[in-house]
Amino acid sequence: PATPDVEALQHEDVARLLPRPAPESDKYRRGVVGVAAGSATYPGAASLTVSGALRGGAGAVRFLGESAQVREHVIQRFPEVLLSEGPVRKAGRVQAWAVGPGLGDGAEARRTVADVLGTPLPVLVDADGLRLMSEGPDGLEAVRARQAETVLTPHAGEAAALLGCAREEVEDARLESARRLVELTGATVLLKGSTTLVASPPGAGGETVPVRVNPTGTGWLATAGSGDVLSGLIGSLLAAGLSGRDAASVGAYLHGYAGRRTREPATALGVAGALTRAWEDVSHSG
Ligand code: AMP
Ligand code: MG
Repeated sequence: PATPDVEALQHEDVARLLPRPAPESDKYRRGVVGVAAGSATYPGAASLTVSGALRGGAGAVRFLGESAQVREHVIQRFPEVLLSEGPVRKAGRVQAWAVGPGLGDGAEARRTVADVLGTPLPVLVDADGLRLMSEGPDGLEAVRARQAETVLTPHAGEAAALLGCAREEVEDARLESARRLVELTGATVLLKGSTTLVASPPGAGGETVPVRVNPTGTGWLATAGSGDVLSGLIGSLLAAGLSGRDAASVGAYLHGYAGRRTREPATALGVAGALTRAWEDVSHSG
C-alpha cells in the first residue's frame, strides 16, 4: 500500500479469527458478554445491542439495565439472555462488556460507564458511553488508565467530540483522526462511516499506529440502530477471547457483510439476523 501500516482486512484473516467452540467447551469458557445499554428513553438500544451480542460467538449474554421495563422488553424478545440490575461488579461471570448505546446521560448511566471502565475486563465503549467520556478529563483518564483491551466505536461526530474538533475535520482526515484518537486514548479505535477504519496501538517498538480498512460496508448500514448491533457483536467477540484489534476488525467485517446479505431496505434487526449467514459464509470459505 502507498501509506505505511495501512492494510485492507482480508477475508481469509477474518475466517481464521472467528471463534470456534472447542469440543470440551462450555458456555462460560466460550465467554460471557455483559451488555449495558438502553434506558427508559431509548429502550430499543438495549435489544439491538443484545441482538448483536448473541451473534458474536460468546457462550452467554448478560444484560444489565436499571429499568425494570427495559429488562422486561429485552427478555420478551430474547429469552436466551441473563438479566442483572446492577451494580456492575455484581453482574455474575461477565468476561467483557459492551457499554453505551442508548444509556442516556443520567446519574445511573454515568455510574455504569465509570464502573465498567473500572473493571479489569475487556470493554467496548460506544454512543452515550463515548459522549460521557468526552465531557471531561476523568472519562479520558479512565480509559487511558485501563490495562485490559478497550475498543471505542465512534462515528465522525463522536470522534470529533473526543478530539475536541469539528466533525468536518474528522471527515476530511479520517485516517489521521483515527490515529490521533488511538494516541489520545491508548485504545483500539473503530471509526465508523462509509469506509470503516480500525486503528490500534502499535506493538512494542512500533512507531506508527497500524490501521485496517474494512472492505465490506454498504450504505444500507446507515440506518438507525445498526451501530448498536455492531457494539454488541464486538463485545461478544471480546468475551470470546479476541484482542481489541481483532474483535473490532472481525466485527466490522461481519457487520458490513451482513448489511449486504440482508433484505433491502436493511433494518438494524435485519442486519443482526443476517449476521449468522455472514458468519457461515465467512467461516466456510476461509
Ligand atoms: P451509527 O453511526 O452508530 O448509527 O452506526 C452506523 C453504522 O453504519 C456503522 O457501522 C457505520 O460504519 C455504518 N455506515 C454508516 N454510513 C455508512 C455508509 N455510507 N456506508 C457504509 N456504512 C455506513
Ligand atoms: Mg451509534
